[in-house]
Amino acid sequence: MLTTVRDSATRRAGSDDPRAHAIVIGSGFGGLAAAVRLGARGYRVTVLEQLDTPGGRARVFRQDGFTFDAGPTVITAPFLFEQLWALCGRRLRDDVELRAIDPFYRIRFDDGTWFDYRADGQAMRHEVVRLSPADLPGYERFLAASEAIFRVGFEQLGHRPFDELGDMVAVLPDLLRLQGWRTVHGLVSRHVRDPRLRVVLSFQSLLVGGNPFATTAVYCLIAHLERRWGVHYAMGGTGSLVRGLMQLIESQNGAVRCGARVDEILVRDGDACGVRLTGGETLAADVVVSNADSAFTYRHLLPARHRRRWTDRRIDRARYSMSLFVWYFGTRRRYPDVAHHSIVLAARYRELLADIFDHKILADDFSLYLHRPTATDPSMAPPGHDTFYALVPVPHQQSGVDWHSAAEPLRAALQRRLEATVLPGLGEHIATSRLLTPIDFENSLSSLHGAAFGFEPLLKQSAWFRPHNRSEEVGRLYLVGAGTHPGAGVPGVLTSARVLDAIVPHGDTLRAGQTRR
Ligand SMILES: Cc1cc2nc3c(=O)[nH]c(=O)nc-3n(C[C@H](O)[C@H](O)[C@H](O)COP(=O)(O)OP(=O)(O)OC[C@H]3O[C@@H](n4cnc5c(N)ncnc54)[C@H](O)[C@@H]3O)c2cc1C
Repeated sequence: MLTTVRDSATRRAGSDDPRAHAIVIGSGFGGLAAAVRLGARGYRVTVLEQLDTPGGRARVFRQDGFTFDAGPTVITAPFLFEQLWALCGRRLRDDVELRAIDPFYRIRFDDGTWFDYRADGQAMRHEVVRLSPADLPGYERFLAASEAIFRVGFEQLGHRPFDELGDMVAVLPDLLRLQGWRTVHGLVSRHVRDPRLRVVLSFQSLLVGGNPFATTAVYCLIAHLERRWGVHYAMGGTGSLVRGLMQLIESQNGAVRCGARVDEILVRDGDACGVRLTGGETLAADVVVSNADSAFTYRHLLPARHRRRWTDRRIDRARYSMSLFVWYFGTRRRYPDVAHHSIVLAARYRELLADIFDHKILADDFSLYLHRPTATDPSMAPPGHDTFYALVPVPHQQSGVDWHSAAEPLRAALQRRLEATVLPGLGEHIATSRLLTPIDFENSLSSLHGAAFGFEPLLKQSAWFRPHNRSEEVGRLYLVGAGTHPGAGVPGVLTSARVLDAIVPHGDTLRAGQTRR
């Protein structure tokens, strides 16, 4: 439908800036990337963030001289950041130094043995042989399968809008050929037999909120993505990427307003036309992009009368990813033997994941991921100190766990586990400490059920089945971020913003008074 914009938001706001106005709700990586892309396509962009700092899950906590990246630490697919810098005529490397990490992960099994998931292909093969010589050919086959899935899942499907059912039907032959109906663990198990190696090659789907025993094997593409471009750390912390994106937005004369919470997306004649903030202020816009959790966006920001597909009932019946418990702490001493990324596994794998995802109970045992940025970047702690965070996957808020009483016992258990495995004497050296629980995901970040990664990445909740990047409900409304296509993780949310290039009209067409819905 061709509609005429008679009173564009720009003119209504009386702004001197003649560009069409885009509002982005939320300043996660998806929202900041969307802002840069819209800024490069002729829009005056305003990002509205409810918290007092930008970055969403990637915001930064500073405490007692320590710097903590709250969320993402494993940076893959750096070219997705480079594209954003290039859109502004700049080079990423002039603003942010990405440093390659090796090993990608150091994985400790419950029997005390280790596996180094190495960057170098030959070194990685040695590790596989050390663990299970008979599995080397199967490992090579798995890598080939991962690359084939990557070619389709990432290169062809990742940045497609998937807003027609026909798009989904068209990719079914590829999905069948690549065995996308299998689970991540199922596909890995077709290739290698050693149970420890199956863990090493399948846990990565947890990085995007997916149980390897339920998530589509399409997520096996992560293995190739990591091998092809490496695992990186942003010097100064992931927060330096957030700051870099903020500077790009500033260079485009865009604005990021923190402490601005959107209560409602306003709709006129079937099109999003602005937002109302807590406190009553309304802002007009020519397009609205929500980077808030997609389930929350539909359940709470877009009134039910405007929704036909994403009804309350449908949102309530969807399956959501797990939540996370994160303990950030600094130590008065350094632990030089601890790698940048460590994973300390519990004895149970499948059963533990079933407790988290299916039974939704907080078990006594846990696997954990330990981040030690000071292994690469001493500037994250005072001299002679170390900065850490320990992260444990836990059930989301439908579990009914009372985190006000459960948090400290879990933190203490985490400390005991770390003392017994990788950080001897930890208790005597703690200089600072803070916690993040599912309550924070639910309340501070407005994620439905406190899910850390939005909708669970199941095949029946992927691509066309996920909330679309171009809203199915109203015109001029777009969605980016973990809860939409293609999904969670930094590469996923940056790609969701890239989809906008294909579906949002260029700002100049709106300014000229015409757009196509
Ligand atoms: C602890 C942790 C570790 C992780 N580690 C990795 C990793 O190593 N590598 C990786 O690739 N991925 C990792 N992830 C996943 C990755 O961080 C996320 O998938 C990604 O950052 C989410 O980005 P997003 O664009 O969806 O926005 P979010 O980060 O979810 O931000 C959304 C923003 O919207 C704001 N908002 C919500 N509602 C409103 C409203 N009504 N008004 C205004 N603002 C609103 C929120 O406050 C928030 O700031 C990790 C996640 C966590 C939690």
